[in-house]
Amino acid sequence: MSDPILKVDNLSVRFDTFSAVDNVSFSIEAGTITGLIGPNGAGKSSLFNSLVGEVPVAAGQILFEGQAITGWQPDKIYAKGLARTFQIPQPFGQMTVLENLMLSAPGQLGESFWAPLVYPGRVASEERAIEDKAREILMFTTLDRVAQQAAGALSGGQQKLLELARVLMGDPSLILLDEPAAGVNPALVQVLIDKIKALNARGVTFLIVEHNMDLIMRHCDPVIALSGGRIIFQGDSSAALVDERLLDAYLGTVTDA
Ligand code: ADP
Ligand code: MG
Repeated sequence: MSDPILKVDNLSVRFDTFSAVDNVSFSIEAGTITGLIGPNGAGKSSLFNSLVGEVPVAAGQILFEGQAITGWQPDKIYAKGLARTFQIPQPFGQMTVLENLMLSAPGQLGESFWAPLVYPGRVASEERAIEDKAREILMFTTLDRVAQQAAGALSGGQQKLLELARVLMGDPSLILLDEPAAGVNPALVQVLIDKIKALNARGVTFLIVEHNMDLIMRHCDPVIALSGGRIIFQGDSSAALVDERLLDAYLGTVTDA
């Protein structure tokens, strides 16, 4: 097997003295769609936040594409190709869908205060390239029809697609999706799955937090389960279905996981 795209060693995330993620180790193989399951409060979102640098790591190490990224700033991790979507979409609601995507381009020259004065032509052409890329991604995610609408006016399902579209601006090689199907109507869930599959066929690796077990069982392999901040199961999805520890965790009877 080739080197994993992500390797997490003895990772802990703490809020005061409480360990939301408690000494967790796992690897994600490149090219997989790995599922991350576990009851509410298990530490899934905290784990995602720590992987992308949004909450500090209390202990442990994160290797992404062989490089230690522990302690890196979120924008540097995003620019390296590791991106996450939010469980609750967080678009700039007043801005258009297209503008939201353009803002998600990593390391824009035009963002620097002096750049428009020093390199006016270059900034304009860079902005055009970013807009072209944004329009292509909107087409891919079927959001091209709403490109000029305020992002806050989209349906819940469309906002989930927008989350995916936004991170695609960073050309990620690993995408962490936090409950992408929650509250999304079945037709849009299917669109989302089709897009995940198409990206995966092009080499993008996914780690997906989802409570929709049908989605997990059909599309994710392997599956990792967290409970109480610890990993209680790793294996293929069919084994997850019959794992007693996992069933107990969902029934709330595991206290010492
Ligand atoms: P999941 O995504 O699996 O539902 P979370 O990572 O959101 O779980 O939460 C794990 C635990 O960490 C919960 O007990 C939650 O209350 C706690 N937690 C999450 N974020 C914070 C925070 N910013 N401050 C304090 N506690 C937090
Ligand atoms: Mg969560």
